[in-house]
Amino acid sequence: MSERVYIGLGSNLAEPRQQLEAALKALQLVPGTTLAGVSPLYASDPLGPPDQPRYVNAVAALDTDLAPLALLDALQVIELEQGRVRKDERWGPRTLDLDILLFGERLIDEPRLRVPHYHMHARAFVLYPLADLAPALTLPDGRTLADLLAACPFSGLERLS
Ligand code: ATP
Ligand code: MG
Ligand code: MG
Repeated sequence: MSERVYIGLGSNLAEPRQQLEAALKALQLVPGTTLAGVSPLYASDPLGPPDQPRYVNAVAALDTDLAPLALLDALQVIELEQGRVRKDERWGPRTLDLDILLFGERLIDEPRLRVPHYHMHARAFVLYPLADLAPALTLPDGRTLADLLAACPFSGLERLS
């Protein structure tokens, strides 16, 4: 049985909107997986070093038969295919970031994969597009998306048309 997964997409290099469009096409080609929905696009201030362009972000809903680590492998292949270069600097600029936010009701704590994403509760550029797709969502630990949103100001965020 397939599971509903939410993916956070982000880009701030090399035509970010096109990067997200290309990533959405690539997600539709992942085996055992269908793209069930995409949020509007948002622009956001960078998290890390401030001397980098603003990000374009979105959240996608997938239904997948893949195991979590197999999906992570597929996401990392897409990142690499779109020119993602991993540097030592944390949260530096990148062509594409694909993070697994939620994977069904699972709680995963492995070296390569922590789900729910460890910092999603504090990120406006994750919570607002997620709410566009699934406003009534409850996390596996019982926290509601509505409560997380109430504690996370819409700051530094801009909804793109
Ligand atoms: P952040 O995780 O704070 O958003 P980041 O997305 O820039 O930072 P990456 O460089 O993309 O971090 O990923 C670093 C590692 O995080 C990956 O190699 C992956 O194994 C691991 N990781 C752990 N949990 C997740 C998750 N939920 N989704 C994607 N990658 C994860
Ligand atoms: Mg990330
Ligand atoms: Mg990442």
